[in-house]
Amino acid sequence: MDVFDKIKMTGLNMPFETAEDIQCSRQSPDCAVDLDVLRSIFPVTQARLPNGQIIPLLKTMQTSVCEKDCYYCCFRTGRDTPRTSLSPDELASAVDRLTRAGLAKGLFLSSGMAGGGVRTQDRLIATAEILRQKYHYQEYIHLKIMPGAEKDQVLRAMQLADRVSINLEGPNEISLRRLAPHKSFFSELLGPLKMIEDIRQTESPHLAWNRRWPSSCTQFVIGAVGESDADLLHTTVKLKQRFHITRAYYSKFSPVIHTPFENLPPASSWRQHRLYQAFFLLRDYHFNYEELAFDSGGNLNLEKDPKLVWAECHLHETPVEVNTADYTQLLKVPGIGSISAKKILLARTYGIIRDVHTLQKMGIITARASKFILINGHRPPYQPVLL
Ligand code: SF4
Repeated sequence: MDVFDKIKMTGLNMPFETAEDIQCSRQSPDCAVDLDVLRSIFPVTQARLPNGQIIPLLKTMQTSVCEKDCYYCCFRTGRDTPRTSLSPDELASAVDRLTRAGLAKGLFLSSGMAGGGVRTQDRLIATAEILRQKYHYQEYIHLKIMPGAEKDQVLRAMQLADRVSINLEGPNEISLRRLAPHKSFFSELLGPLKMIEDIRQTESPHLAWNRRWPSSCTQFVIGAVGESDADLLHTTVKLKQRFHITRAYYSKFSPVIHTPFENLPPASSWRQHRLYQAFFLLRDYHFNYEELAFDSGGNLNLEKDPKLVWAECHLHETPVEVNTADYTQLLKVPGIGSISAKKILLARTYGIIRDVHTLQKMGIITARASKFILINGHRPPYQPVLL
Protein backbone atom coordinates (compact mmCIF):
# COMPACT_ATOMS: atom_id res chain seq x y z
CA MET A 1 0.00 0.00 0.00
CA ASP A 2 1.55 3.35 -0.94
CA VAL A 3 1.33 6.49 1.14
CA PHE A 4 -1.61 7.93 -0.82
CA ASP A 5 -3.59 4.72 -0.33
CA LYS A 6 -2.93 5.03 3.40
CA ILE A 7 -4.08 8.65 3.43
CA LYS A 8 -7.21 7.68 1.57
CA MET A 9 -7.94 4.73 3.86
CA THR A 10 -7.74 6.78 7.05
CA GLY A 11 -9.14 10.03 5.79
CA LEU A 12 -12.27 8.73 4.11
CA ASN A 13 -13.36 7.22 7.43
CA MET A 14 -13.53 10.39 9.51
CA PRO A 15 -17.29 11.00 9.59
CA PHE A 16 -17.28 12.54 13.06
CA GLU A 17 -14.52 15.04 12.30
CA THR A 18 -16.60 17.83 10.85
CA ALA A 19 -14.29 20.72 11.60
CA GLU A 20 -14.26 23.44 8.95
CA ASP A 21 -16.40 21.42 6.50
CA ILE A 22 -19.01 23.30 4.61
CA GLN A 23 -22.06 21.67 3.12
CA CYS A 24 -21.51 22.56 -0.46
CA SER A 25 -20.46 20.66 -3.54
CA ARG A 26 -19.47 23.51 -5.80
CA GLN A 27 -15.90 23.80 -6.86
CA SER A 28 -13.61 25.74 -4.59
CA PRO A 29 -12.53 29.04 -6.12
CA ASP A 30 -9.00 28.27 -4.93
CA CYS A 31 -8.84 24.78 -6.37
CA ALA A 32 -8.06 24.01 -9.98
CA VAL A 33 -9.86 20.67 -9.97
CA ASP A 34 -13.40 19.52 -9.33
CA LEU A 35 -13.63 18.63 -5.64
CA ASP A 36 -16.16 15.86 -6.25
CA VAL A 37 -13.68 14.13 -8.52
CA LEU A 38 -10.84 14.80 -6.14
CA ARG A 39 -12.84 13.51 -3.17
CA SER A 40 -13.19 10.15 -4.87
CA ILE A 41 -9.39 9.94 -4.90
CA PHE A 42 -8.36 11.73 -1.70
CA PRO A 43 -10.09 12.75 1.52
CA VAL A 44 -10.26 16.40 0.53
CA THR A 45 -13.15 18.44 1.80
CA GLN A 46 -14.24 21.94 0.99
CA ALA A 47 -13.50 23.94 4.10
CA ARG A 48 -14.09 27.45 5.32
CA LEU A 49 -11.16 28.76 7.34
CA PRO A 50 -11.56 31.06 10.34
CA ASN A 51 -10.65 34.01 8.05
CA GLY A 52 -13.52 33.12 5.67
CA GLN A 53 -11.31 31.71 2.90
CA ILE A 54 -12.60 28.51 1.27
CA ILE A 55 -9.97 25.89 0.50
CA PRO A 56 -9.63 22.21 -0.39
CA LEU A 57 -8.57 20.75 2.96
CA LEU A 58 -6.90 17.35 3.24
CA LYS A 59 -8.34 15.47 6.21
CA THR A 60 -6.41 12.49 7.39
CA MET A 61 -5.08 10.59 10.38
CA GLN A 62 -1.58 9.72 11.50
CA THR A 63 -2.87 6.25 12.34
CA SER A 64 -6.20 4.48 12.38
CA VAL A 65 -4.89 2.09 15.02
CA CYS A 66 -6.58 2.95 18.30
CA GLU A 67 -6.48 1.58 21.80
CA LYS A 68 -9.61 3.46 22.97
CA ASP A 69 -13.09 2.01 22.72
CA CYS A 70 -15.40 4.93 22.04
CA TYR A 71 -18.77 3.26 21.45
CA TYR A 72 -19.69 5.14 18.29
CA CYS A 73 -16.37 5.04 16.43
CA CYS A 74 -15.37 2.89 13.48
CA PHE A 75 -11.75 2.88 14.71
CA ARG A 76 -12.47 1.62 18.24
CA THR A 77 -10.13 -1.03 19.53
CA GLY A 78 -11.03 -4.60 18.69
CA ARG A 79 -13.26 -3.67 15.76
CA ASP A 80 -12.42 -5.64 12.65
CA THR A 81 -11.51 -2.94 10.17
CA PRO A 82 -8.46 -2.35 7.96
CA ARG A 83 -5.98 -0.09 9.70
CA THR A 84 -2.88 1.74 8.69
CA SER A 85 -0.31 4.19 10.02
CA LEU A 86 1.89 6.85 8.46
CA SER A 87 5.23 7.93 9.80
CA PRO A 88 5.67 11.70 10.26
CA ASP A 89 8.16 11.74 7.36
CA GLU A 90 5.95 9.96 4.86
CA LEU A 91 2.84 11.94 5.79
CA ALA A 92 4.64 15.31 5.63
CA SER A 93 6.20 14.40 2.29
CA ALA A 94 2.83 13.33 0.88
CA VAL A 95 1.12 16.53 2.06
CA ASP A 96 3.90 18.57 0.46
CA ARG A 97 3.47 16.73 -2.84
CA LEU A 98 -0.32 17.13 -2.82
CA THR A 99 0.07 20.81 -2.05
CA ARG A 100 2.59 21.43 -4.83
CA ALA A 101 0.29 19.57 -7.23
CA GLY A 102 -2.50 22.01 -6.30
CA LEU A 103 -4.72 19.26 -4.89
CA ALA A 104 -4.93 20.51 -1.31
CA LYS A 105 -4.27 23.82 0.41
CA GLY A 106 -4.43 22.86 4.05
CA LEU A 107 -4.24 19.94 6.45
CA PHE A 108 -6.57 18.65 9.14
CA LEU A 109 -4.60 16.05 11.09
CA SER A 110 -6.08 13.75 13.69
CA SER A 111 -5.11 10.31 14.95
CA GLY A 112 -6.20 7.19 16.70
CA MET A 113 -4.56 6.67 20.08
CA ALA A 114 -1.60 4.32 19.76
CA GLY A 115 0.77 4.06 22.69
CA GLY A 116 -0.98 6.68 24.83
CA GLY A 117 -1.86 10.33 24.33
CA VAL A 118 1.68 11.61 24.81
CA ARG A 119 3.32 9.34 22.22
CA THR A 120 0.49 9.92 19.77
CA GLN A 121 0.77 13.67 20.21
CA ASP A 122 4.52 13.48 19.59
CA ARG A 123 3.90 11.95 16.16
CA LEU A 124 1.35 14.63 15.22
CA ILE A 125 3.77 17.34 16.29
CA ALA A 126 6.62 15.69 14.38
CA THR A 127 4.55 15.71 11.18
CA ALA A 128 3.70 19.39 11.57
CA GLU A 129 7.34 20.22 12.41
CA ILE A 130 8.63 18.48 9.29
CA LEU A 131 6.06 20.29 7.19
CA ARG A 132 6.89 23.72 8.58
CA GLN A 133 10.67 23.30 8.83
CA LYS A 134 11.72 20.95 6.03
CA TYR A 135 9.05 21.78 3.44
CA HIS A 136 8.45 25.41 4.53
CA TYR A 137 4.75 24.67 4.45
CA GLN A 138 2.84 27.96 4.59
CA GLU A 139 -0.67 26.56 4.43
CA TYR A 140 -3.32 26.07 7.10
CA ILE A 141 -2.84 23.28 9.66
CA HIS A 142 -5.53 22.13 12.07
CA LEU A 143 -3.87 19.86 14.61
CA LYS A 144 -5.67 17.63 17.06
CA ILE A 145 -4.64 17.67 20.69
CA MET A 146 -4.81 14.14 22.04
CA PRO A 147 -6.48 13.25 25.33
CA GLY A 148 -3.84 13.41 28.03
CA ALA A 149 -1.35 15.56 26.06
CA GLU A 150 1.19 17.39 28.21
CA LYS A 151 1.57 21.14 28.42
CA ASP A 152 4.89 21.38 26.52
CA GLN A 153 3.26 19.37 23.72
CA VAL A 154 0.25 21.66 23.65
CA LEU A 155 2.62 24.63 23.45
CA ARG A 156 4.56 23.09 20.54
CA ALA A 157 1.35 22.19 18.71
CA MET A 158 0.17 25.78 19.12
CA GLN A 159 3.45 27.06 17.66
CA LEU A 160 2.95 24.94 14.54
CA ALA A 161 -0.79 25.09 13.88
CA ASP A 162 -3.39 27.63 12.80
CA ARG A 163 -6.06 25.86 14.79
CA VAL A 164 -5.92 23.27 17.55
CA SER A 165 -8.84 21.26 18.85
CA ILE A 166 -9.84 18.75 21.46
CA ASN A 167 -12.97 16.70 21.01
CA LEU A 168 -14.99 16.77 24.22
CA GLU A 169 -17.49 14.35 22.60
CA GLY A 170 -20.08 14.87 25.35
CA PRO A 171 -21.17 18.06 27.12
CA ASN A 172 -20.41 16.64 30.55
CA GLU A 173 -18.81 13.73 32.34
CA ILE A 174 -21.97 11.60 32.32
CA SER A 175 -22.47 11.89 28.56
CA LEU A 176 -18.79 11.24 27.88
CA ARG A 177 -18.86 8.10 30.03
CA ARG A 178 -21.72 6.77 27.90
CA LEU A 179 -19.92 7.61 24.65
CA ALA A 180 -16.32 6.85 25.51
CA PRO A 181 -16.04 5.07 28.85
CA HIS A 182 -12.27 5.26 29.11
CA LYS A 183 -11.77 8.94 28.51
CA SER A 184 -11.60 11.34 31.43
CA PHE A 185 -13.68 14.46 30.87
CA PHE A 186 -11.79 16.70 33.26
CA SER A 187 -8.16 15.60 33.24
CA GLU A 188 -7.74 14.33 29.66
CA LEU A 189 -10.05 16.66 27.72
CA LEU A 190 -10.84 19.83 29.66
CA GLY A 191 -7.26 19.85 31.00
CA PRO A 192 -5.62 20.45 27.58
CA LEU A 193 -8.29 23.05 26.68
CA LYS A 194 -7.31 24.92 29.83
CA MET A 195 -3.62 24.57 28.89
CA ILE A 196 -4.31 26.26 25.55
CA GLU A 197 -5.86 29.24 27.29
CA ASP A 198 -3.11 29.37 29.94
CA ILE A 199 -0.47 29.43 27.20
CA ARG A 200 -2.27 32.24 25.39
CA GLN A 201 -2.36 34.23 28.60
CA THR A 202 1.22 33.63 29.76
CA GLU A 203 3.44 32.92 26.74
CA SER A 204 4.50 35.09 23.84
CA PRO A 205 3.63 33.76 20.38
CA HIS A 206 6.94 34.99 18.92
CA LEU A 207 8.03 31.38 18.27
CA ALA A 208 4.72 30.47 16.63
CA TRP A 209 5.11 29.82 12.90
CA ASN A 210 3.14 32.95 12.00
CA ARG A 211 3.66 34.77 15.33
CA ARG A 212 0.04 34.35 16.33
CA TRP A 213 -1.61 31.87 18.65
CA PRO A 214 -3.98 29.51 16.86
CA SER A 215 -7.71 29.49 17.45
CA SER A 216 -9.18 26.56 19.34
CA CYS A 217 -12.36 24.58 19.01
CA THR A 218 -14.09 21.43 20.16
CA GLN A 219 -16.54 18.89 18.88
CA PHE A 220 -19.49 17.02 20.33
CA VAL A 221 -21.15 13.87 19.07
CA ILE A 222 -24.89 14.49 19.24
CA GLY A 223 -27.85 12.20 19.43
CA ALA A 224 -26.43 8.91 20.71
CA VAL A 225 -26.68 9.09 24.50
CA GLY A 226 -29.57 11.40 25.32
CA GLU A 227 -27.71 14.64 25.96
CA SER A 228 -29.96 17.68 25.57
CA ASP A 229 -29.43 20.77 23.43
CA ALA A 230 -29.42 22.80 26.64
CA ASP A 231 -26.53 20.67 27.96
CA LEU A 232 -24.58 21.11 24.74
CA LEU A 233 -25.12 24.84 24.44
CA HIS A 234 -24.52 25.51 28.13
CA THR A 235 -21.16 23.74 27.95
CA THR A 236 -20.36 25.57 24.73
CA VAL A 237 -21.00 28.92 26.42
CA LYS A 238 -18.80 28.00 29.37
CA LEU A 239 -15.99 26.90 27.06
CA LYS A 240 -16.27 30.11 25.13
CA GLN A 241 -16.18 32.23 28.28
CA ARG A 242 -13.38 30.37 30.06
CA PHE A 243 -11.21 29.04 27.27
CA HIS A 244 -12.14 31.33 24.38
CA ILE A 245 -12.92 28.58 21.91
CA THR A 246 -13.98 30.12 18.63
CA ARG A 247 -16.07 27.24 17.40
CA ALA A 248 -18.01 24.21 18.60
CA TYR A 249 -18.92 21.49 16.13
CA TYR A 250 -21.98 19.32 16.64
CA SER A 251 -21.35 16.10 14.79
CA LYS A 252 -24.49 14.06 14.36
CA PHE A 253 -24.29 10.47 15.41
CA SER A 254 -24.60 7.85 12.71
CA PRO A 255 -24.51 4.14 13.65
CA VAL A 256 -21.51 2.06 12.62
CA ILE A 257 -21.83 -1.70 12.33
CA HIS A 258 -19.95 -3.86 14.81
CA THR A 259 -19.97 -1.19 17.48
CA PRO A 260 -22.07 -1.15 20.69
CA PHE A 261 -24.21 1.60 19.12
CA GLU A 262 -24.86 -0.17 15.82
CA ASN A 263 -28.60 -0.47 16.47
CA LEU A 264 -29.22 3.08 17.61
CA PRO A 265 -31.05 5.39 15.19
CA PRO A 266 -29.05 8.14 13.49
CA ALA A 267 -29.35 11.64 14.92
CA SER A 268 -31.54 14.20 13.22
CA SER A 269 -29.94 16.55 10.70
CA TRP A 270 -32.46 19.19 11.74
CA ARG A 271 -31.27 18.97 15.31
CA GLN A 272 -27.69 19.54 14.16
CA HIS A 273 -28.85 22.50 12.07
CA ARG A 274 -30.76 24.10 14.97
CA LEU A 275 -27.74 23.67 17.26
CA TYR A 276 -25.54 25.49 14.77
CA GLN A 277 -28.13 28.27 14.44
CA ALA A 278 -28.20 28.63 18.23
CA PHE A 279 -24.40 28.58 18.40
CA PHE A 280 -24.16 31.46 15.92
CA LEU A 281 -26.77 33.43 17.87
CA LEU A 282 -24.57 33.07 20.95
CA ARG A 283 -21.31 33.79 19.17
CA ASP A 284 -22.20 36.43 16.60
CA TYR A 285 -25.65 37.82 17.40
CA HIS A 286 -25.26 38.98 21.01
CA PHE A 287 -27.72 36.43 22.38
CA ASN A 288 -27.35 35.06 25.91
CA TYR A 289 -27.82 31.42 26.74
CA GLU A 290 -30.81 32.43 28.91
CA GLU A 291 -32.56 33.88 25.84
CA LEU A 292 -32.69 30.54 24.04
CA ALA A 293 -35.99 28.68 24.34
CA PHE A 294 -35.89 24.98 25.20
CA ASP A 295 -38.74 22.54 25.63
CA SER A 296 -39.30 20.56 28.82
CA GLY A 297 -36.66 18.05 27.68
CA GLY A 298 -34.10 20.81 27.22
CA ASN A 299 -34.21 20.76 23.43
CA LEU A 300 -34.60 23.46 20.80
CA ASN A 301 -37.69 23.66 18.62
CA LEU A 302 -36.90 21.56 15.56
CA GLU A 303 -39.55 23.31 13.48
CA LYS A 304 -38.30 26.88 13.80
CA ASP A 305 -35.10 28.87 13.72
CA PRO A 306 -34.25 29.73 17.37
CA LYS A 307 -33.99 33.41 16.42
CA LEU A 308 -37.55 33.33 15.13
CA VAL A 309 -38.72 31.57 18.30
CA TRP A 310 -37.16 34.36 20.38
CA ALA A 311 -38.57 37.13 18.18
CA GLU A 312 -42.11 35.74 18.32
CA CYS A 313 -41.94 35.89 22.11
CA HIS A 314 -40.22 39.24 22.48
CA LEU A 315 -40.69 41.41 19.40
CA HIS A 316 -44.19 40.72 18.22
CA GLU A 317 -45.78 43.23 20.61
CA THR A 318 -42.76 45.54 20.78
CA PRO A 319 -41.29 45.75 17.27
CA VAL A 320 -37.88 47.28 16.65
CA GLU A 321 -37.81 50.74 15.00
CA VAL A 322 -35.14 50.45 12.32
CA ASN A 323 -34.45 54.21 12.46
CA THR A 324 -33.48 54.22 16.14
CA ALA A 325 -32.50 50.69 17.18
CA ASP A 326 -28.88 50.06 18.07
CA TYR A 327 -26.75 47.39 16.39
CA THR A 328 -27.54 44.71 18.97
CA GLN A 329 -31.29 45.29 18.73
CA LEU A 330 -31.18 45.10 14.94
CA LEU A 331 -29.22 41.84 15.07
CA LYS A 332 -32.02 40.21 17.02
CA VAL A 333 -34.55 40.71 14.24
CA PRO A 334 -35.04 37.63 12.00
CA GLY A 335 -33.93 38.47 8.48
CA ILE A 336 -31.30 40.98 9.63
CA GLY A 337 -27.69 39.80 9.85
CA SER A 338 -24.51 41.56 10.86
CA ILE A 339 -23.83 43.01 7.40
CA SER A 340 -27.37 44.27 6.89
CA ALA A 341 -27.50 45.69 10.43
CA LYS A 342 -24.37 47.72 9.64
CA LYS A 343 -25.92 48.87 6.37
CA ILE A 344 -28.98 50.12 8.26
CA LEU A 345 -26.78 52.11 10.65
CA LEU A 346 -24.87 53.60 7.72
CA ALA A 347 -28.05 54.43 5.80
CA ARG A 348 -29.41 56.29 8.83
CA THR A 349 -26.51 58.72 8.67
CA TYR A 350 -27.92 59.88 5.30
CA GLY A 351 -31.55 60.22 6.40
CA ILE A 352 -34.65 58.45 7.60
CA ILE A 353 -35.47 54.99 6.28
CA ARG A 354 -39.04 55.26 5.06
CA ASP A 355 -39.99 52.07 3.24
CA VAL A 356 -39.49 48.36 2.97
CA HIS A 357 -37.85 48.60 -0.47
CA THR A 358 -34.92 50.51 1.03
CA LEU A 359 -34.40 47.64 3.46
CA GLN A 360 -34.64 45.07 0.67
CA LYS A 361 -31.91 46.86 -1.25
CA MET A 362 -29.67 46.43 1.80
CA GLY A 363 -30.15 42.67 1.70
CA ILE A 364 -32.67 42.42 4.51
CA ILE A 365 -35.07 39.51 4.17
CA THR A 366 -38.19 41.59 4.74
CA ALA A 367 -40.51 38.60 4.48
CA ARG A 368 -38.95 37.53 7.80
CA ALA A 369 -38.23 40.90 9.35
CA SER A 370 -41.45 42.82 8.63
CA LYS A 371 -43.43 41.21 11.42
CA PHE A 372 -40.94 42.46 14.00
CA ILE A 373 -40.03 45.98 12.88
CA LEU A 374 -41.36 49.50 12.54
CA ILE A 375 -40.23 51.70 9.67
CA ASN A 376 -40.49 55.33 10.65
CA GLY A 377 -43.20 54.48 13.18
CA HIS A 378 -45.26 52.20 10.95
CA ARG A 379 -45.50 48.44 10.72
CA PRO A 380 -44.68 47.36 7.20
CA PRO A 381 -47.18 45.07 5.48
CA TYR A 382 -46.22 41.42 5.71
CA GLN A 383 -47.52 38.12 4.59
CA PRO A 384 -47.01 34.96 6.65
CA VAL A 385 -44.24 32.86 5.15
CA LEU A 386 -43.27 29.26 5.58
CA LEU A 387 -39.91 29.33 7.38
S1 SF4 B 1 -10.01 7.77 20.51
FE1 SF4 B 1 -12.13 7.11 20.30
S2 SF4 B 1 -12.96 8.52 18.71
FE2 SF4 B 1 -10.70 8.63 18.58
S3 SF4 B 1 -10.15 7.10 17.02
FE3 SF4 B 1 -10.02 6.09 19.01
S4 SF4 B 1 -12.02 5.09 19.31
FE4 SF4 B 1 -12.22 6.61 17.67
